[in-house]
Amino acid sequence: MKSIIPDYLDEALARVASDASGQLADYIPELAAADPTRLAAVFATTDGRLYGAGDVDTEFTIQSISKPFAYAMALDDAGFEAVLAKVGVEPSGEAFNQISLERDTGRPLNPMINAGAITVHSLVGSMQLTAADRVARVIDGLSAFAGRPLGVDEAMCASEMENAHRNLAIAHMLRSHGVLTEDPTVVVDGYIRQCSVRVTTRDLAMMAATLANHGVNPVTGDQVVGERVVRQVLSVMATCGMYDTAGDWATQVGIPAKSGVAGGLIGALPGQVGIATFSPRLDAHGNSVRGISLFEQFSSDMGLHVMEVPATTRTVVRANRTRGSGAGAARVFELQGGIRFAGAERIVREVVDSAPSETRVVFDLTLVSSIDDVARRMLREVVYRLRLDGHHVEIADPDSVMGARVRA
Ligand code: GLN
Repeated sequence: MKSIIPDYLDEALARVASDASGQLADYIPELAAADPTRLAAVFATTDGRLYGAGDVDTEFTIQSISKPFAYAMALDDAGFEAVLAKVGVEPSGEAFNQISLERDTGRPLNPMINAGAITVHSLVGSMQLTAADRVARVIDGLSAFAGRPLGVDEAMCASEMENAHRNLAIAHMLRSHGVLTEDPTVVVDGYIRQCSVRVTTRDLAMMAATLANHGVNPVTGDQVVGERVVRQVLSVMATCGMYDTAGDWATQVGIPAKSGVAGGLIGALPGQVGIATFSPRLDAHGNSVRGISLFEQFSSDMGLHVMEVPATTRTVVRANRTRGSGAGAARVFELQGGIRFAGAERIVREVVDSAPSETRVVFDLTLVSSIDDVARRMLREVVYRLRLDGHHVEIADPDSVMGARVRA
C-alpha cells in the first residue's frame, strides 16, 4: 500500500498553489532575485521518516530560522544565566528588525527579534572564540540539527552585508548599552553569515524534528542540545517566533514556529513531528504567505494545535481486583498506558479510596508504556506508604518502566 501522507501533502500544496499574494523580501537585493513560484512542504517524524511534496530539495537561505537554533547553542554553550542576563524572553509585539531594547536593562526583549539574535550570536561558543571560529561553531551546530553538513551562500551574505545598515544600527546600540562587548561590525558579519546558511525544506523539517525529539536528531541519533534547552527554545518560538503576529499564530495554528525572510517556515510539535514549508512571497510581517496557509491547514486537518485538549486518555487503572483468597490473597492494581501527573493522581486516589485489606498488594505495570518522572516518584511514594502500613508490595514491571530501584 502507498502511504497516504504524501498524497495529503500534494493536495495541501494544490490548495494554496494559486495564491500569488505577498512580496519577495527586497531589502536584501539577492533575496529579491528568488523564484517566487517555489513551493514545498515536508513532515519529519521523531523517528526520522520524511514525507515531502513540491520543491523539497530547492536550496534557499535559512535567515531568521537560524535564530532558535543559535539560541539553543548559546544556552548549551554559555548556560542559561549568562544568556538570560543579556537577552529576555518577552514577546515584543514588534517587527523583527525593530530598533528597541528593554527600558531599564538595555536587553533585547527576546532572541527571535534581530537585536536578540545578534546578541545571541555573540554568546555561542566560549568567550575566547575568534569571530571566524564562532561562525564555524554556529554552522556546525546548524548542520548537527539538520544531520548533514551545511554551507554558506556567499553571494547572499555579501549582498546582505552591503545593506546591513539597520542591523549595524541595532548592534551599535547594543554595544552602547554594554550588551555587546565586541566590535558591532564583526558580530553583525557573523550573524549575517549565520542567516546565509543554505538549507532545503527537507533540512528544515529535520531540524524542527530534532527540536520535537527533545534535541536528538532522529536520523543521526546525536543529542545536539540538552532537553532543558529544547524546552526553553520551543517556549520562545511559541511566544515570539512569529514576531508581531505571534498571538494570531498561537491561537490559529498553535505550533511553536519560526519564519525566515527567504520564505522558509518551521514548526516543531513536541514529541510528534517537525514541519517545514517553503514559499518565498511574504506578508507585511515578513512571514511566508503560502507557508502560513499550509500551517493553518495542517493544524486544523490533523489536530496539531498544542493547546488541543487530548481526548480523555483511557483510564490508567485498568483493573483493581483481588487475586486468590485467605491469607495468600493479593490486591492487584493493573495499570496501563502512559502515566503522567494526572494518571498518577488517579492511581493514588484508587489505592487510598479502595484501602486494600489484603497484606499483599501488587502493581502490575505490564501494560504501562511510559511513566514520567513525577508519576514515577508518586508511585514510589505510594509503595513506600503501603509498606509503612504493613503491606507486602510487589511490582510486576517486565519492561522496567519504573527503573531498577523499585523492582528489587
Ligand atoms: N538576515 C535577516 C535580517 O537580519 C533575517 C531576517 C528574517 O529572516 N526575518 O534582516
